[in-house]
Amino acid sequence: MQFGDGFADAGAATAERTEVLGLVESLKRQLDSVDGALVKLDDGTYGRCNTCGKEIGAARMEARPTSILCMDCKSRRS
Ligand SMILES: [Zn+2]
Repeated sequence: MQFGDGFADAGAATAERTEVLGLVESLKRQLDSVDGALVKLDDGTYGRCNTCGKEIGAARMEARPTSILCMDCKSRRS
């Protein structure tokens, strides 16, 4: 894809830029959750819910190793 070849391409470039910014935002969020999981590894609460302290569950931790909330607390929060 080439940029700057006219109005339509400028629009495409803007759309692409928005897409990249969205990607960066989601990567930042992933980094935050990895940081959160690392803190829990350090203090020995990895695999336990930040809110209620219950085991998050092996299946969920396997699917999403950076989970810091159990399914119950997660759905209550969102
Ligand atoms: Zn919980």
